[in-house]
Amino acid sequence: MSEGLESATDAPAGPSDVEVAVIGAGPAGLSAALNLVRARRSTLLVDSNRPRNAATLASHGFLTRDGLPPLELRRLGREEFEAYPAARFHAASVDAIAPLAGGGFRLTGRGVRGAAPLDVTSAALVLAAGLVETLPALPSIRAWYGTQLHSCVECDGYEKSDAPLVLLGESDDLAERAVLISQWSSDLLVCTNDVGTVSDREEAALAARGIRVDRRPITDVEGAEGRMTGVRFADGSFDARTGGFVRPAWRAAITAINGLALELDPDGLVIVDGRGRTNVPGVYAAGDVTPPGPEQLIVAAGEGATVAATVNRDLLGPL
Ligand SMILES: Cc1cc2nc3c(=O)[nH]c(=O)nc-3n(C[C@H](O)[C@H](O)[C@H](O)COP(=O)(O)OP(=O)(O)OC[C@H]3O[C@@H](n4cnc5c(N)ncnc54)[C@H](O)[C@@H]3O)c2cc1C
Repeated sequence: MSEGLESATDAPAGPSDVEVAVIGAGPAGLSAALNLVRARRSTLLVDSNRPRNAATLASHGFLTRDGLPPLELRRLGREEFEAYPAARFHAASVDAIAPLAGGGFRLTGRGVRGAAPLDVTSAALVLAAGLVETLPALPSIRAWYGTQLHSCVECDGYEKSDAPLVLLGESDDLAERAVLISQWSSDLLVCTNDVGTVSDREEAALAARGIRVDRRPITDVEGAEGRMTGVRFADGSFDARTGGFVRPAWRAAITAINGLALELDPDGLVIVDGRGRTNVPGVYAAGDVTPPGPEQLIVAAGEGATVAATVNRDLLGPL
């Protein structure tokens, strides 16, 4: 029995309903699905409608679409995919994936937005379900996330050029992130919230670039009338900042993968080879659900195209 099929169900392995099921209709899944239908593969795209970038109004850096609202990018992608006869879309959250005894997978889940429940079989599976972020536990941080606080420096650094910024995080890579952000603004305060790690050596190196480090615990990120104004510390003091960056903790969004015995990295992201294959035959992954990033729309879309080419060739079988 192949690796990852230990929990295979006893369901007979008849012809699959579709050749490929793609879970997630962000840029990774849309790009994979588009390229698969163009390869004349019957393709089901399943999406629970919870895009990671829903908090933002404009997405940057996607060639020919710089500044486009992220939902518009998805709408255009859906439209292109669904124009092909081999395309099917199902608005659903995949809750379980069961490998079938003779090969292939059965996907079941809840319909979303009034759609019917999902119950389908596929020969191959593409995981493009993105990731879930956990921000530092500050009461108002979500209110500023996506508009004035961001996680992707490459995506949103330009709009913050030369502004007084904060880098807020509880990880041990804050100094490296701070150096990166300094390309856009050197008026930067690094806040560890008494959790994140910045070594003395790193602090001295940042100081040489004019970047301050503050390790005190934070009470909240404050603002008024829709504008972030700064960071309030537990001792009551306040540092005025108009925006900045936060370092979230990440994990794969899809919990249904638990039944697949997939190899995951320490963050819970799905490990793939250079062509998008996971360790489980027939299961592929692309986009934010895989390391190492960078977590950007155009990178996710590129990985989707790569994975589609891999799936199509693998389904043809050996020479
Ligand atoms: C606030 C913010 C702003 C950003 N701004 C930019 C930017 O300006 N430029 C840029 O290049 N990048 C930006 N990014 C990053 C970008 O959004 C991601 O890199 C990109 O969306 C990843 O694409 P993806 O297809 O892998 O995942 P996603 O776009 O997150 O799509 C995953 C999809 O899978 C679905 N899904 C999850 N679980 C299931 C399930 N069980 N069943 C069915 N469907 C499921 C979700 O509903 C979602 O629609 C930003 C991110 C954030 C958080």
